[in-house]
Amino acid sequence: MLKKSNRLLRYETLLNKSINNKLEEANRLLKSLSSIDELTGIANRRSFNNYMHIPFENTNQTNFLLSIIVIDIDNFKWFNDSYGHIYGDKVLVKTAGQINSIAKQFSGFAARWGGDEFIYAAFNTGKKDILKTAKNIMDAISKIQVSNEALKCSSFITVSLGVFSMHIISEDDIQKCINNADKALYLAKKSGRNCFKYYSS
Ligand code: GH3
Ligand code: MG
Repeated sequence: MLKKSNRLLRYETLLNKSINNKLEEANRLLKSLSSIDELTGIANRRSFNNYMHIPFENTNQTNFLLSIIVIDIDNFKWFNDSYGHIYGDKVLVKTAGQINSIAKQFSGFAARWGGDEFIYAAFNTGKKDILKTAKNIMDAISKIQVSNEALKCSSFITVSLGVFSMHIISEDDIQKCINNADKALYLAKKSGRNCFKYYSS
C-alpha cells in the first residue's frame, strides 16, 4: 500500500514538473510575442520602453548620452488609399527591415512606434554620429522599391526624420529627448518631407 502511494507521489511530482516546464515555456513565448510588432517583426513600443528603462533598473539617477531618431513615412495615407492596405503593409515591413538592419549595424535599438512611425535609440552616441545614422536610414529607405502586383506597378517611398541628443540624468529626461526628436520631425515635415532635422531650442 505504502509502496503504491510512494509511486503515485513520484508520478504526481513528475507530472507537476512537466506542467511547470510547459507553463514556463508558454510564459517565455508570451513575453517574446508581446514585445514584437506583429506585422513587421521588429520590437514594438512596449519593448522600446522597457529598453529605455534598463539604465535605471537599480538606480533613479544616472548620466549618459542618448540620441533619438523618430522616423515617419511620407504621405503614407495616400499610398495606402491609392494602392491598397496590402501594399501599405508591405511598405511597413520593408521600412522596418531597413531601420532594424541599421540598428544592428550601429548597435542601436529600433522599434515600431505605431502606424507609419518608427523610433531609433542609441546610447552614448552624440549629435554628429546620430546625424550620420539618420542619413543612412533615409538613404536605405529611399532605395526600397515596393511593387503592387494588382496594379502591376512599383514605387519608391520616402521618410522624414526628427533627431535629438541629450545627456540623461533622470528617467524623465528620456521623454524630453523623445519629445524634442518629435519636434524635429515636425520641422522635417514642414520643410517639405524626405529630409532629416535636428531640434535646437
Ligand atoms: P505625413 O507625410 O504627414 O506623415 O502623411 P501621412 O499620410 O503619412 O500621415 P497620416 O498619419 O495621415 O497617415 C498614416 C497612415 O498610416 C494612416 C493609416 O491608415 C495608416 N496605417 C496605420 N497603421 C497601418 C498598418 O498597420 N497598415 C497599413 N497598411 N496602414 C496603416
Ligand atoms: Mg506619415
